[in-house]
Amino acid sequence: MNDYTHNSGDDALKRLQAVRQRTDAACHQARRETHTVSVLAVSKTWPAAAVHGMAMAGQTSFGENYIQEGVDKVVALRALLPDQPLVWHCIGPIQSNKTKLVAEHFDWVHSVDRLKIAQRLSEQRPPHLQALQVCVQVNIDQAATKSGSSLGDATALAQQIHALPNLVLRGIMCIPDPVEGFDAQVAAFERATALFKQWQQAGLAVDTLSMGMSGDMEAAISAGSTMVRVGTALFGARQYAG
Ligand SMILES: *Cc1c(COP(=O)(O)O)cnc(C)c1O
Repeated sequence: MNDYTHNSGDDALKRLQAVRQRTDAACHQARRETHTVSVLAVSKTWPAAAVHGMAMAGQTSFGENYIQEGVDKVVALRALLPDQPLVWHCIGPIQSNKTKLVAEHFDWVHSVDRLKIAQRLSEQRPPHLQALQVCVQVNIDQAATKSGSSLGDATALAQQIHALPNLVLRGIMCIPDPVEGFDAQVAAFERATALFKQWQQAGLAVDTLSMGMSGDMEAAISAGSTMVRVGTALFGARQYAG
């Protein structure tokens, strides 16, 4: 776990404001209203104290990649801030043997890329919790090595998720290959936006386009992102990859 002792609460507020300024400016540039883009704080690798600091600065939604690490923080934060329910998003790859933990502890999952995982999440969602909010992760670069549903399979998967009882289909998540230059970044994100619009035209009630990170949030917002997932710009550089 990364050491967070260098970061005071003041830092958390300043970083949050700086990120919000970036998303607001990108919205103005794209002639979009600023409230149409939300910020998901990606707290992977950072300890519960870091999440606590961000929550005290006003951030309510947090994203985790590693399931067990995320669950530990969900539990820790519930004890630290019992009166302030946070919203937890699973944004990392999910193996079948981890679906139960995800179904029991998270509010959202952005990284569903096959039916088997969706079915298990729906079956294992505890009845006392509200439905799990789901985005289909789409491999918009069609790279063989990457996780995510292919562009060709994504729409069928979305319809299958829509039909599952304990899941609510919310939209698309993508992580494009890094490319140089704003226009090339926008073009990549626009492939996800086009698919998203197809789904809306087909009658799927989707409202979430989860795309853009610390390095490319402006391009993502220009292409229509409704939720940027921001780690480094909020918490600092991570010590290990992920
Ligand atoms: C780590 C990660 C992020 C945040 O990346 P930064 O560049 O640190 O902002 C966003 N989304 C996913 C899926 C990630 O794994």
